[in-house]
Amino acid sequence: MRLTVIGCSGSYAGPTSPASCYLLEHEDAGRAWRIVLDLGNGALGVLQRHTRPELLDAVLLTHHHPDHLADMCGLFVMRKYRPGGPPPVRLPVYGPEGTDDRLAVAYGSPDAKDMARYFDYRVVRDAEPFRVGPFRVTPFRMNHPVESYGFRIACGETVIAYTGDTDTTPNLSPLLTGADLALMDSAFVDGRDPLPDIHLSGSRAAQAAVDAGGVRRLMLTHLPAWNDPAVCHAEAAAVWPGDVEMAQPEATYDVAPSA
Ligand SMILES: [Zn+2]
Ligand SMILES: [Zn+2]
Repeated sequence: MRLTVIGCSGSYAGPTSPASCYLLEHEDAGRAWRIVLDLGNGALGVLQRHTRPELLDAVLLTHHHPDHLADMCGLFVMRKYRPGGPPPVRLPVYGPEGTDDRLAVAYGSPDAKDMARYFDYRVVRDAEPFRVGPFRVTPFRMNHPVESYGFRIACGETVIAYTGDTDTTPNLSPLLTGADLALMDSAFVDGRDPLPDIHLSGSRAAQAAVDAGGVRRLMLTHLPAWNDPAVCHAEAAAVWPGDVEMAQPEATYDVAPSA
């Protein structure tokens, strides 16, 4: 499975990265399959440097905060108004209950009601798996102020786990256990951000990965531009026994199963 970080800036687009968006690609049955996890502010522009958005097989939205879905408005415009007519099939859009209404509010103009003609909305629920081509996806309810999910994505023998936005929760264990790569929210800094039930810190992300067991690679993401990445890295490194990786905008990672 190939992961490209389209955007990894937490909470809002930063000077060097859009907000949350990750492209997953895999070749199967003679064709390439492509899904994106979240499509936050600024992501649609950078995404076009890595794939043609009309080739996406699905969009998976973790929750309804704008830093995870704002650019769905631009994607709707691309599909509805592109010269030559819209793509022949609606794009599957997975997300929490009410994603259709949330995107209509975000778009705001009278033709927002047309979004359902271009997006095939599918509601995700805790621990109810679904499939997009070769990607086997299991959503797990996370711990955030709005209904939010992490996605465990298996493809062949490879597993990538993406937390979306969350603080510590027992559901991190089934999400992360045995993952070849755990892509984890680390927006908060220990001591600086005391509010519970919003985001992980580097240390809490690492502890959750340790507790889940069998996680092969830990990658921190969703750092807002006001964070010092070295601080987040150090907090995680004090807990995690291996290398702590930091998601880098527009970096591509080939993720393979554990030996
Ligand atoms: Zn966020
Ligand atoms: Zn959020």
